[in-house]
Amino acid sequence: MIQALRGFRDILPDETDIWQKIEKLAKEIFENFGFREIRLPILEKTEVFARGIGDTTDIVEKEMFSFQDSKGRSQTMRPEATASIARAYIQHKMYSRSPEQKLYTIGPMFRKERPQKGRYRQFYQINAEVLGIDSPALDAQLIVMLQELFTKLGIKNLNTIINSLGCKKCRKEYNLVLSSFLKDLDSLCGDCTRRKEKNPLRILDCKNELCRENLGNAPLFENYLCDDCKTHFSNLKEFLDIEKINYKIDSRLVRGLDYYTRTAFEIQTDELGAQSAVAGGGRYNGLVENLGGPETPGIGFAIGFDRLVEIISSKIKSENKSSPDIFFISFGKKAKTKAFKICNEMSRAGIKTELEFSEKSMKALMKKANRINAKFCAIIGENELEKNIISLKDMDQGKQMEVNEKDLILYMKQNLKATGESYSV
Ligand code: AMP
Repeated sequence: MIQALRGFRDILPDETDIWQKIEKLAKEIFENFGFREIRLPILEKTEVFARGIGDTTDIVEKEMFSFQDSKGRSQTMRPEATASIARAYIQHKMYSRSPEQKLYTIGPMFRKERPQKGRYRQFYQINAEVLGIDSPALDAQLIVMLQELFTKLGIKNLNTIINSLGCKKCRKEYNLVLSSFLKDLDSLCGDCTRRKEKNPLRILDCKNELCRENLGNAPLFENYLCDDCKTHFSNLKEFLDIEKINYKIDSRLVRGLDYYTRTAFEIQTDELGAQSAVAGGGRYNGLVENLGGPETPGIGFAIGFDRLVEIISSKIKSENKSSPDIFFISFGKKAKTKAFKICNEMSRAGIKTELEFSEKSMKALMKKANRINAKFCAIIGENELEKNIISLKDMDQGKQMEVNEKDLILYMKQNLKATGESYSV
């Protein structure tokens, strides 16, 4: 048996119902906040990520699916969307039409991580990114938008963690202070020993217990922020207070990508057992410039779609969306042709249909009607053909009646109560 690759999985029809609901709700909310969809390629030139994310990050150093094309040029399956969005913004000179762009995108990302529960090599993210606006009110608004989505999905126990990672100027100074603190520490994990030289900031959010202990007395970035970054961070907090968002400041929150400046944030929940991030993001004021574009502020977030589905799959009361409104059963060639035509017409009229193709017995097909949870059965045999009628069986009530063929669509529409979708928990 050929199986999917490790860390890659199929999302089967019974699960896609929830994926679709979340996607629909996210789009609705994001569009209400002024965002528009952008669709991006999955494969990019490797330099988009190497230059964008930073070549000393875990993602670029060890997690990218990269390969060479026939001319020896390196290409990469995207590990995240932000760098691609910045690339598209530059490539299409989107800034010349309007420097302010509020974009969202939903799709698969690829990282060569060790697969485990909730961690895949192909996983999905819902991204929202804003280019061209530097206001801290926007940073707060993105967190408000995320909270709105999670609240509507019935997720409780949300923790919002924020931090400021400063700008080019104050980060340089802080890196020096941090490096001199780290110089004297020799009991760090292997990764952090390497990071000491290349990327000291990343050591701050290492999950290794020993590193965490050793960094207990590390100098705090908030004490080294320049005046502009300090003001930006305190304004962000004020805007979050206005919206009564509960947040915690964690000076260790660095996130794994080099492009973050100023605001970094995570939304965590304990609904999957241990505390884990279901969304994360931050500001990246240097990214567009880094990729060859004009100086442009930017901020965005990524929601872990797989985790979100896992959290709410036990909460959403989803009615069986796949059950048909009407199941067409017919006997004989002529009746089958008629059923084929009426059934297609009904589907086009917006009624959910199921057409039986086999020659099975009435008894077997009634069993099937129950199994697929059909609301009505339309039966066409010799008698119905002769009288130009359809025998319609209401499966809930057990009643059967004769309906004029031409009245069937109207009759069904009147009988089918609109079924509203519910996200309530
Ligand atoms: P990041 O792009 O690393 O900031 O991650 C944003 C969110 O994507 C995380 O909070 C996770 O919920 C989710 N995520 C990241 N990597 C994976 C993965 N390998 N499998 C599933 N979800 C992931």
